[in-house]
Amino acid sequence: MKIISINTGSSSLKFSLFNMDKEEVIASGLFERIGLEGSSYTIKFNGEKIKEEIELANHTDAVKVLLEKLISLNIIKSLEEINGVGHRLVHGKDKYSKSVLITDEVVEDLMKFKDFAPLHNPANVLGINAFREVLREVPMVGVFDTAFHQTMKQEEYLYPVPYEWYQNYGVRKYGFHGTSHRYITKKISQELKRNDLKIISCHVGNGGSITAIKDGKCVDTSMGFTPLAGIMMGTRSGDVDSSIIPYVMEQEGLNASEVVDALNKRSGLLGISEKSSDMRDVVAGMEEGDEKCRLAFDMYTRKVTNYIAQYYVLLGGADVIVFTAGLGENSVPFRRKVCENLACLGIKLDEKANNCMGELRKISAEDSSVLVYTIPTDEELMIAEDTKRIINEIG
Ligand code: ADP
Repeated sequence: MKIISINTGSSSLKFSLFNMDKEEVIASGLFERIGLEGSSYTIKFNGEKIKEEIELANHTDAVKVLLEKLISLNIIKSLEEINGVGHRLVHGKDKYSKSVLITDEVVEDLMKFKDFAPLHNPANVLGINAFREVLREVPMVGVFDTAFHQTMKQEEYLYPVPYEWYQNYGVRKYGFHGTSHRYITKKISQELKRNDLKIISCHVGNGGSITAIKDGKCVDTSMGFTPLAGIMMGTRSGDVDSSIIPYVMEQEGLNASEVVDALNKRSGLLGISEKSSDMRDVVAGMEEGDEKCRLAFDMYTRKVTNYIAQYYVLLGGADVIVFTAGLGENSVPFRRKVCENLACLGIKLDEKANNCMGELRKISAEDSSVLVYTIPTDEELMIAEDTKRIINEIG
């Protein structure tokens, strides 16, 4: 069974083509600058990488080129080989708690919820419509970023604000990166051969969220109403006192969205280091004695520590802490510092094991009170798995 996993942005389309009989990626790639000057695609397969500049007026053009290339490069023989398309969808509000077959109703809902993810939901619809135009008969499945977090209880997902804001406008915590946290839950449960684990899943990349999981279900997560909340990130502030917003508006003569834009794009590691949003640059700066980089690193690791500690208490202890995504999988100093901060809980890393990048590995010491793992996340595979399962269910 061959499934394409799709992640559509407003001017991009990322894909992975899986052979789901072996859970193997056959080809993957990216279409960039769709609808803009200088659009191009990259396709990787068989250890080769093909890049070409090509005019792509819209997402339908990108899908047409993608399917033509899959055939002309002999990756598939005909379009009939494609059994399903899985789409990463960002916001399903509280209506979608699991992946679904994409129907007209799902597409309408994505647009209905667009104020909750203005950049992502309309882009997701563009991706769905493009595939509908080109692959009419092929079933499509939607996998929501918010779905895994729908098991949170009210006391976790409500903000202590007037209740009517929740009732009238849907103001609550939704959480994001759900597909990644679900993948991590599945992987670590397989690894430890237990489904009754207390897991603290740390998806830390450019954006980042920490999730508390018990018996396979999300109990709480650090992102909130939007992906701006929670830990400090590459360019996002994470949690701040909301009174800062009107104060800075007044000081700088900005409107509310301009200040929120600064919290999204000019804050986090970039805001404090005044150098880079990338942890590699911040660590390099710190090693050269740059004090702002040191401060950015210390603040970042502190915010992550605080959420892990909070969720340790919420879960009544933890069996395992998992680090994933760009930093979680690759940054040795980041993991070391967070675990040093957690030493009072009896958490201890094995320095040698921690010296690894991009692999599934136990990195805690034998006498650590909690297991610590690093696991490469694979949201694309999770999307393909859901797509396969739902297609099989509908026969
Ligand atoms: P996104 O959230 O955009 O999907 P990623 O999960 O790919 O991002 O994470 C990107 C971030 O991961 C980079 O900005 C960088 O800070 C960090 N990162 C990636 N590789 C490394 C590395 N080898 N060492 C330290 N940090 C890394």
